[in-house]
Amino acid sequence: IILKHYVEGYPKESDMEFKNNNVKLNVPEGSNVVVLKNLYLSCDPYMRSRMSKLEGSYPITGCGVAKVLKSGDSNFQEGDLVWGMTGWEEYSIVTATQSALFKIHDKNVPLSYYTGILGMPGMTAYVGFYEICSPKKGETVFVSAASGAVGQLVGQFAKMLGCYVVGSAGTKEKVDLLKNKFGFDEAFNYKEEKDLVAALKRYFPNGIDIYFENVGGKMLDAVLVNMKLHGRIAVCGMISQYNLEKTEGVHNLFCLITKRIRMEGFLVSDHYHLYPKYLEMIIPQIKGGSVVYVEDIAEGLENAPKALVGLFYGHNVGKQVVKVSRE
Ligand code: NDP
Repeated sequence: IILKHYVEGYPKESDMEFKNNNVKLNVPEGSNVVVLKNLYLSCDPYMRSRMSKLEGSYPITGCGVAKVLKSGDSNFQEGDLVWGMTGWEEYSIVTATQSALFKIHDKNVPLSYYTGILGMPGMTAYVGFYEICSPKKGETVFVSAASGAVGQLVGQFAKMLGCYVVGSAGTKEKVDLLKNKFGFDEAFNYKEEKDLVAALKRYFPNGIDIYFENVGGKMLDAVLVNMKLHGRIAVCGMISQYNLEKTEGVHNLFCLITKRIRMEGFLVSDHYHLYPKYLEMIIPQIKGGSVVYVEDIAEGLENAPKALVGLFYGHNVGKQVVKVSRE
């Protein structure tokens, strides 16, 4: 999949095109490249920023799950399963360092999970909630974009710790999922609320201890005035701003001072040293059924552009994945 030109405003399917290329799938003598057959690709909101202000066209990359076909790298053998930054293509020729490849050891889970709960979004929820939010039992937690790849996990982690958790999402179907599948105490459709400050007051009459920020803009403003003294805000993402030419101003930042709020941005890539610890926690929870994960799987590489664009319209229900090939 090639990005034809840089994107302004909302991305469209027509910004990308599906091209056929004949590439020799071999490892040149003395090279340390790894030849991969891609099985699943991940659609993630950060990919939008890579579509801005670049000259010319270039192949899209993103997280993916793949099988090693050939390897010039002694750490990887033919038949290994891996996840990391692969191309948006059927086959990729990469180096392990450039693609930050992780070997997949536990295969008794759906392999697509390594694009989500067992991959980058899972680590984002884990690091963002446990490391950045300093959560304590009994605290009140609000999660925006709560039914997505990251949000659905943050809500479940908070419930496991004994917090009161509310999520917002953009459709009734997603609100039902939050309450009935992921166990959020309450959930609401932010698109149906004229006054977000009042909506949050309804669910948090005594205020919010922790806000897991995924959307930014008007929601952040409304949250700030509903935060408790000494509250924490983990700034994970601001998807409502990614397609705007001019980002919206946030008016209530003064609340950071009056309420002594700690607001901290983080990038999951700074925290991958915690990945083994995360796997140790999450794999038994998945197998034991105490954590569930909802995916939205599009079939076929040719449908990847539509799936990626859909993130910015809320078309995905759960983690958006593209299935490229069978193992
Ligand atoms: P999701 O699976 O949640 O997909 C995106 C969702 O965002 C959509 O389904 C939609 O849900 C919601 N959305 C889209 N546009 C808007 C809008 N204008 N206002 C409010 N909500 C909107 O994505 P992820 O869980 O993968 O990512 C969630 C956030 O985490 C993103 O901001 C992303 O950039 C960030 N992130 C940050 C990382 C880091 O290292 N800091 C790493 C990974 C992700 P709905 O129907 O509810 O509107």
